[in-house]
Formats: sequence, C-alpha cells, structure tokens
Amino acid sequence: MSPGYHLMELPTKVLIGDGVIEKLGEFVTDKGPRKTVISSGSQVTSKVRATVECALGRKPVWVEVTAADTQNVDKVTRAARGAGRIVGVGGGKSVDVGKLAAFQLGIPFYSVPTSASHDGISSPFASLRGLDRPYSVKAKPPVGILADIEVISSAPKRLLASGCGDLVSKLTAVKDWQLAHEVTGEYYGGYSASLALMSADVVLDGSKTMGRFGKGSVRDLVEALISTGVAAGIAGSSRPCSGSEHLFSHYLDVLEPGVGLHGEKCGIGTIMMARLHGLNWKRVRNALTNVGAPVRASTIGIGDSQVVQSLVKASTIRPDRYTILSERKLDYRSASALAKATGVI
Ligand SMILES: [Zn+2]
Repeated sequence: MSPGYHLMELPTKVLIGDGVIEKLGEFVTDKGPRKTVISSGSQVTSKVRATVECALGRKPVWVEVTAADTQNVDKVTRAARGAGRIVGVGGGKSVDVGKLAAFQLGIPFYSVPTSASHDGISSPFASLRGLDRPYSVKAKPPVGILADIEVISSAPKRLLASGCGDLVSKLTAVKDWQLAHEVTGEYYGGYSASLALMSADVVLDGSKTMGRFGKGSVRDLVEALISTGVAAGIAGSSRPCSGSEHLFSHYLDVLEPGVGLHGEKCGIGTIMMARLHGLNWKRVRNALTNVGAPVRASTIGIGDSQVVQSLVKASTIRPDRYTILSERKLDYRSASALAKATGVI
C-alpha cells in the first residue's frame, strides 16, 4: 500500500517560443558570481553555442556529454564543483546527465532542449546506463525549461518522431497504472493520469498534421512532452509516463545497447501493450506511421528474437512495477504471436 502522501516537485518556469534561446541570460535568474557549467551534446551546432555564450554574458564551462552513463555524470559533476548552476543544452543525453549531476551537487538545473525526442526535458527523472538498474532514477525536475521552437524545429525529423513515440506510450502507461491500483492497491492519481493521456492524444488525434512537423505542431509536441514530465512531478513517480511499454524498451536497451531511440522503442512497445490491454492498437500504429515513427522492429535494426525475448523478460527488470506483463506472463510462443499479430515482427 502507498503511504497516503507524496511530494510533488515541478519546474518553476518555462520559456517557449521562436528565438528564446537569446534570452537564456535573463532566464537563468539565480546569477551569482559562481560559474555556469553547460552539459551539451556533440550535435549542438556552433550557432547555438555562440548564441548561448552571447546570452549568458560570462563565458560558461562546456562539458561534452558522449553517452548517458555514470562516467559522463562524474565528468560533469567534477567540472561543476563550485559552480552555481548546470544548463543542459542538447538532446536527451546532455539533459539527463546534467540533471543528475546538478541533483548530486544540490545546485539548480536548467533544461535547454535542442530536440524533442523524449519527456526527460521536464521530468524529475533521468535515464542512464551503468546504474544498478536499467530504468530511470529520480532526481529533481529542472528549475527552468527554455524551449526554442526555431531550434527544435530544425532537429532531424527522426528525433521529433521519436518524441511522438514517447507521447503515445502514456496510453498504456496509464492503463498499467490503473491495473496496478486495482490489483496491488498502489496509489493512483486520476488527475496526473488524465494529464498524461491528454499528451498522448496530441499525437493520437492529430498525427496527420503533426507528421508535417510545422512550427505549430512542434510547439504542441514540446508542450505535450513538458506536460508529461509535469504529470510525473504531480504523481511523484514516473507511473503516468512509464509502464510495460517502457519496460519493454528498457529490456531492449540491455540486449542491444544504443540500437534505436528511446521514443521509437517505446512507441513500438505501445502497439503491443495496447493489444494486450484490449485497446485500439491499430490507432496507435496508424498514428506512429503518420508521424514517420517506426512500427516494425526491423526498421530500427532490432531482430525478431530480441523483440520476443524482451516481451518475455521485460517484467523481471522491475518486479516492483505491476503492469499488464505481470498479469499476462507471456511465454516465447505467446510473445511471438503478439509481435506477429501487431506487425512488429
Ligand atoms: Zn519515455
């Protein structure tokens, strides 16, 4: 049973719009004499780097994040000793690594996503390799999120489609949470669940328009991703954002590290988990197709046997999280049948 209370931790402010990256200096308001450390990915363009430096006024210390793992967190933490804040500029990795480093040092973290590939841009959670468990860990949400739509719109379409995959996954995550509440008595928050579902609907209801990734659609996508992170903050757990489809994705991460993007694997997982839940899985598959996200595992280089093995084993990596996979306990035959029936393999 849940203890009957929980802590909600939320971002304090969000600045969103075209060209807002130029306002980073005003946005980072806790300016003191202490230095700013920036965790960034190698893909961050020189134009973005120059704009960030100009906006901050004082030269920051750049640390390049090469992977979302504990070594990179240590690297950023070392560079940020005595720093006043950490700003994560880039895609998923630099935000996750910067967020955890800031959490360990007890200093504010600002998130400046340059793509919209998953919901870690606003959530209190960070997903890393090299920990004792292959799923996200609790840190603190960013103090501020600065989302420049102009910058994010120019990210590769594959990254934006991956963000759509992470959004549709809230459909089965919420179903799993409801199921867990019924079976184990675990706390269930109807409000945060509705908020997460609303974000999934942004893709499920508007996939045709979304798939063109015009500025308006990218803004909807980013706001929906921020909102799911807030839903996790309200729930005090990743429950509204992460269910059996995330366990499936995490197991694939263990089997085939670095193959496919997080949101792509979660999207594919959602198709299959939706069918297990008796939901309209074809609607999920159509929406993913419309936004250009993969619906077959082979499209992202994942083999049939990896899919089947992940379906069978996914629930073992996090036994405390009750989902449809705990309920249905797939064997190799039924897992293969599910993957084939949904066209994933
Ligand atoms: Zn996710």
